[in-house]
Amino acid sequence: MLEVILRGHDNYYGVADILRLFYDGIREEREVCRVIAPNGPDISIISSVEEGGVRAFCGDVSIRLDNSNIPVKRDIKRSLYKLLEKLTSQSFPWGCLTGIRPTLVAAECSTPDEMTEIYFVRPDKSDLAFRTYREEQALLATVPQDSLNIYIGVPFCPSRCEYCSFVAADISHHMGLLDDYESALIKELELIAPRIDRKLASVYMGGGTPTVFSNQAMDRLIKTIRDLLPMDEDTEFTVEAGRPDTLSENKLRSMMEAGVGRLCINPQTMRDETLLRLNRRHSVSDVVRAYQKARELGFTMINMDLIAGLKYEPSEAVLDSLEQIFELSPANITIHTLYKKRRTAMGRQDVLDRDGSRGDIDAALREAYSMLGSKGYDPYYMYRQKDTGHGLENVGFALPGTGCRYNVAMMSDRRDVLSFGAGGMSKRIFDNNRLERCSTVKDVIAYIRDPAAVAAKKLRFYELDGIQ
Ligand code: SF4
Repeated sequence: MLEVILRGHDNYYGVADILRLFYDGIREEREVCRVIAPNGPDISIISSVEEGGVRAFCGDVSIRLDNSNIPVKRDIKRSLYKLLEKLTSQSFPWGCLTGIRPTLVAAECSTPDEMTEIYFVRPDKSDLAFRTYREEQALLATVPQDSLNIYIGVPFCPSRCEYCSFVAADISHHMGLLDDYESALIKELELIAPRIDRKLASVYMGGGTPTVFSNQAMDRLIKTIRDLLPMDEDTEFTVEAGRPDTLSENKLRSMMEAGVGRLCINPQTMRDETLLRLNRRHSVSDVVRAYQKARELGFTMINMDLIAGLKYEPSEAVLDSLEQIFELSPANITIHTLYKKRRTAMGRQDVLDRDGSRGDIDAALREAYSMLGSKGYDPYYMYRQKDTGHGLENVGFALPGTGCRYNVAMMSDRRDVLSFGAGGMSKRIFDNNRLERCSTVKDVIAYIRDPAAVAAKKLRFYELDGIQ
């Protein structure tokens, strides 16, 4: 068991974050001032704040940082990371950066070199963060500061993917709830939408799988959204049609007529065998068929998601999937790295692949980014999740001029977002970028029971007319 004893500080959170990069099952034991990694080697590390600096040491091996320009909390993480790097001969692409928004850190650094120097981020990742930040800012500039961005959530899916951690209801077990959910969503929209008196920069219908509804229900819902929300010709309207098996020609036509301009059709992998074993219940040919039908009907802005590091396939499979996706020429391609959260059917080792049994995911991603670059795709938004395989990242790529405004508005924490549906998170940005959040009940049944209460909470949050 590895233990880190804290001396002169109480940055348990930062210490645990760094330990989590190297080991699983991290536990804080505050009563004895330590954080432990039960699966680590039997060593004791002291992390201490001392006169004029910060030190992490273990026996004779010691890292002391005296840089007074860097906040102490950050130096505690930096010193511990450097010490563990030395003790384990292991390092991570994002160094001691454990936050989920590398572009926010890029914004604080003046150059990629500075990011590398402060956080020990590998140079290719610092460059990626800076390139992404530039694209993200250019797109964000097209989203007016006082505009509103709408999210409409549909937490239902036709089956549950094995790696899924999302609170999505599996339609095969919750079929009876879908109609009621649609009615509740419409009720919430009817109560809030007439009070919106701001320009809508974007409307994003996400999930789950929003196209899980029947043709008729989808037609009704999408038209109601169009009728109730004050969209204009500039409003970006996106629907995540994530699972291609839910995407019929009728639904595509309904969306086209309602002004949907962007779709996500997500294969995750272009290997049938993996799709089957992941319980996605669609094939590669379903993906191709849905994509081609959408293009035929006039959709030009289509995003396709892939996941690197999937269980059941070697890491380089993502490159093969990418080659196949290039043949379809979607406007956007998003590459996720498999990550581990609670509630996932997959085991921790299956997700994190600490022993590297699926090969070098890091190298495969580097190759994937280079292939995307050579085809003209630029990175325009990115985020990381805790417990991502090999400490990697998720990056959205777009051909020039095709990035999704909602994605950058939502990721930036610099634009207001109003959410509809169970589990949605609304955000308001105030002066000096102060952010307030308003969550919605996650439980679908509780949401269906009282959408008016959900609406009242949000109307109060947004101080919309007539509500106290
Ligand atoms: S499509 Fe997405 S939300 Fe639905 S089960 Fe699969 S991973 Fe989860």
